[in-house]
Amino acid sequence: MQQTVRQKSLPLNSEKWARITETAGAYARQKDAFLVEYGHIKYLHYLSEKRKLRDELVSAGFTSPFGLQARQWKLALDDALFTLERQFEAAVVEVKECLYRHEGLTDEEKHYASWLLYKHKKHGRDWKRIQAIFTGKDIVSEEINLDAEGRAKVRKYLKRVFRRVLGKKPRVKKARSFTVDQQMYRVFAVGSRQYIAVATLTPGERVIIPLAGVHAIEGNLRVILLPDERAVEIHLTREPQTYPPGEEEAGIDLGVTEVFTDDTGRKYRPEYGEALQEMSDHILDKSRKRGKLRALRRKFLEQDPNKARRILKHNLGLIKQTKRNKKYRTRCENEINRAFNEFYKERRPKIIAYEDLAHLRGKARSKGLSRKVSGWQRSIIKERLEYKNYIYSVADPGPVNAAYSSQTCPMCGWVDAKNRRGDVFKCQKCGFAADADNVAALNLKSRLHDKEITRYTPYKKVKEILLERYRQKQVS
Ligand SMILES: [Zn+2]
Repeated sequence: MQQTVRQKSLPLNSEKWARITETAGAYARQKDAFLVEYGHIKYLHYLSEKRKLRDELVSAGFTSPFGLQARQWKLALDDALFTLERQFEAAVVEVKECLYRHEGLTDEEKHYASWLLYKHKKHGRDWKRIQAIFTGKDIVSEEINLDAEGRAKVRKYLKRVFRRVLGKKPRVKKARSFTVDQQMYRVFAVGSRQYIAVATLTPGERVIIPLAGVHAIEGNLRVILLPDERAVEIHLTREPQTYPPGEEEAGIDLGVTEVFTDDTGRKYRPEYGEALQEMSDHILDKSRKRGKLRALRRKFLEQDPNKARRILKHNLGLIKQTKRNKKYRTRCENEINRAFNEFYKERRPKIIAYEDLAHLRGKARSKGLSRKVSGWQRSIIKERLEYKNYIYSVADPGPVNAAYSSQTCPMCGWVDAKNRRGDVFKCQKCGFAADADNVAALNLKSRLHDKEITRYTPYKKVKEILLERYRQKQVS
């Protein structure tokens, strides 16, 4: 897990800027060419042996058709392979989800499917297995007790799901950045000003970039172009400091009013709801306005093409849109960060029970939040949770089953939709009353060690189990 540190430059003069954009342009075209070429299934095994591909290209006398120096195209290749790997890894996560829920496969068939999707903790993934899913090649190991017909059936099923979740092949659309390794830059200071001299397309030439602050810079860097300011931002990654695991078990109930409520009843960042609402309103309002403008543009397209073009340029431009969005995004992001910081620092959990993030979609819908906002929220919370778990050495067994977590009484175990009315929980049997989110967090926490109710226990079955437990409790 890596942490990104950002360092901005001062504005560059036009000559330096021209050199940097030229380098970024060539890098982007080269990376894109690699993506197109090696995005093909027949090259998938190279993701397990990236170095080998590079060496093969070197011994075949490869030179970059876009004018990159040798070190530069090697980095562009790494970059492209990493992008492809990320896309396939994300697809594997989704395929696994579908697999667990799929009821048409026998245990042995699922076992074979898991073997194909397996990733070794130390040695990483054997991409030949994923490749076989696509090519239909029959691969197997001693531990698999499934005949050839069954294996073919599994691979066919997985192939179908992969095709569905993979989406478009990744491409580089804009030349926004390039990477440099330790040999391609030099850092020095004059007085209190720090500079970085970066290699360009011309061998031996370096562009000297004045930096806005002072940082320890080492290892591979990514140079990000900021065209509006005619400056760059240097991104360096490093291993963040980590902490030993804590003692406590905790449960959190993610929300759309506060970031989450934990099992002690504390609500983290109640300011979050307003920020989220604002962002959503802004996006909804804008998409309504854009819809109107688009209609207007269509109307003028025949009568007054120049006016139509102006509407497109000034009012439907994408740049403006993302810039203003950023303000709202940053505010929400800050709230999420603060919530997790406070929680991890104060609770020091060793394990956290949380629900499948997909449930946030429903919560967002009930508040009338934009779908875009809700999707964004899920991805950022997932990312933060993974990152913080890494920093604080928290075990993450994945989400727990959240069925009936806000309708079940943590005292007597009675399950009833009537137990919950809005934010308030009041048990219809024993009268126990508490905040509804607090109750949900408590119930999620109790599912951590639930042998009967696992993540994949069907919804209805959960209710049967809970009611049976309630009955047992009454008898004893
Ligand atoms: Zn009760």
